[in-house]
Amino acid sequence: MSYEDVQKVWMSGRLVDFADARIHAFAHVLHYGSAMFEGARVYKTRQGSAAFRIDEHIKRMYDSCKVYRMEIPYSREQFRDAIFETVRANNFDECYIRPLVYRGVGALGVNPFRSPVEVLIAVWRWGKYLGDEALDQGVDVCVSSWNRMAPNTFPAMAKATGNYLNSALIKMEAIVNGYTEGIALDNAGRISEGSGENIFLVYGGKLLTPPLSGTILPGITRDSVMTLARDAGYTVVEQQIAREMLYLADEIFFTGTAVELTPIRSVDRITVGTGKRGPVTERLQKDFFALLKGEAEDRYGWLTPVPVEARV
Ligand code: PMP
Repeated sequence: MSYEDVQKVWMSGRLVDFADARIHAFAHVLHYGSAMFEGARVYKTRQGSAAFRIDEHIKRMYDSCKVYRMEIPYSREQFRDAIFETVRANNFDECYIRPLVYRGVGALGVNPFRSPVEVLIAVWRWGKYLGDEALDQGVDVCVSSWNRMAPNTFPAMAKATGNYLNSALIKMEAIVNGYTEGIALDNAGRISEGSGENIFLVYGGKLLTPPLSGTILPGITRDSVMTLARDAGYTVVEQQIAREMLYLADEIFFTGTAVELTPIRSVDRITVGTGKRGPVTERLQKDFFALLKGEAEDRYGWLTPVPVEARV
């Protein structure tokens, strides 16, 4: 990952140079993790640059903030305009988008209400999150010894920065043990999600994924893949999934804005299926990428062209 070609960052209403995009040492967010964020992407399509499901990402950002009683001082429309303005200011035809809503400088007690809500939008080029070969070859993962946060502790439906301390524990453990990624179980020992991605299994001729019952992020890629899979005639079931199904599934893959749709070829050194990307995974990848690149018709209205001129 390189930030060399990042020129501008949007900070509370204006574009500033990369070098000036700073947060004060007294900002509440730094001390108490009081921030919500998003991760979206702009793709280079045949019809020009377009953001993928940007309104759903913006909605999830507003939802996260609602849970944490943070009022975003902009309308959703202004938020979207600011995102596109930032993409354009950096001249990126393809990039990752990171809006962050955080508590700034006010009062450094736990009570967040006395620190103002600020917004920044950063964009950068982000290639293949789990390595260049991951999309074809799949990745080797482990079941983490760390559980995902239990329901009614840290709300999993909110994409809060603090949740990612749990993700970091999962990710670090996986890396030091020689795996690419870790899969967390929930506090009842059922499959939850990866450190930054949702998970699907092909098992018994169906596509299974854990439900939105309190321990996973409601992934926008997850939702997209469920839609594409149903359209392709697969049966998709949201259900609780036992750990051992990871060892018995015919195919497993991760979904997420960063990983897109990445096959898993082994779990805890047990080969998944044949050890190669399976036919369901391949079909869904094909449908997903065709849509992202503008090669297939945008039949769900998931692509929003990056406007050429800023709206005034
Ligand atoms: N789970 C977690 C914990 C994540 O961080 C992400 C990435 N935002 C996802 C799932 C996938 O969500 P999405 O498809 O919306 O990127």
